[in-house]
Amino acid sequence: RAKAEGRGTWRLYDVEMDERQKDRRILQSALRQAVLRDEFRLEYQPLVNLADGRIVGAEALLRWQHPERGLLPPGDFIALAEDAGLIGQIGEWVLGQACREAANWPEHVGIAVNLSPLQFRDSGLVEIIDRALAQAGLAPGRLELEITETTMLETNSETVDALWQLHGRGVRVALDDFGTGYSSLSYLRRFPFDKIKIDRSFIRDLGYEKDDSSIVLAIIGLAERMGMVVTAEGVETPRQAEILNSYGCGQAQGYLFSRPVSAAVFGELLVTGTPLCPWQSVAEPLAR
Ligand code: C2E
Ligand code: MG
Ligand code: MG
Ligand code: MG
Repeated sequence: RAKAEGRGTWRLYDVEMDERQKDRRILQSALRQAVLRDEFRLEYQPLVNLADGRIVGAEALLRWQHPERGLLPPGDFIALAEDAGLIGQIGEWVLGQACREAANWPEHVGIAVNLSPLQFRDSGLVEIIDRALAQAGLAPGRLELEITETTMLETNSETVDALWQLHGRGVRVALDDFGTGYSSLSYLRRFPFDKIKIDRSFIRDLGYEKDDSSIVLAIIGLAERMGMVVTAEGVETPRQAEILNSYGCGQAQGYLFSRPVSAAVFGELLVTGTPLCPWQSVAEPLAR
């Protein structure tokens, strides 16, 4: 298409490419300083037990407080950090910070941390996690690691070994964004996941798209039979929550309950905000 539009288009495209390359390089060098300059923040999004609205945990979500560009979401810099070889260092900071914070919470409240596939390339991952837990004084059973199908796709026997070692310590492992990757089902045979997180693309049109209901119901049934907990991601409406609860989905996460918030605000939610059950006051009682 660009060819048909003539040479000028190509040149314009080149200029844009150059700009983007330059921007990437600038951002990468800033990223290199960011850990030292203490520019990363974690926000915490509640994980809610659907039946009663109680907070059972939080997912730690990384943000970068960029000196000029403001608070950047992970979509703006994680891939860049991976390309620049910085994700190991950043991920280690995330693990340490999340475990320290969670150690202040009641014992029944867990913490979930996202891991990049590249963190598994580091043979020291298990040690890094051991150290984060020990330094924070956090019981391993309160830490949940979220990995995606991509991690399992790029895996070798070492990844699975590391997962088994962590599993042996009582750390829980969740398969994130379930249903969006490749051959998800085969991963369920290779490792005993503790949890499946249903990607929010399946939740969005729940109640309007018949196929989405079938898929979500099937995932919940599968998880139940395999002894896994299910979390629905991206729950935004009372209707979605009500449907998920009627399907027997154990946990949910989404803007309906709370956006990701600072550690201080999450601490307040734990004291005053529970149960987060806005949907039960709005929804009709469920037909039994
Ligand atoms: P994820 O692990 O699937 O996290 C859920 C994402 O959905 C978060 O986006 C969260 O803010 C967003 N979300 C939660 N509830 C709702 C909702 O009701 N509606 C909508 N539209 N969105 C909702 P966020 O914080 O931008 O993170 C994006 C992704 O970045 C995460 O997806 C995760 O894959 C990655 N990520 C976040 N923190 C880290 C980290 O510390 N390390 C690594 N490697 N990746 C991270
Ligand atoms: Mg996640
Ligand atoms: Mg997810
Ligand atoms: Mg997702």
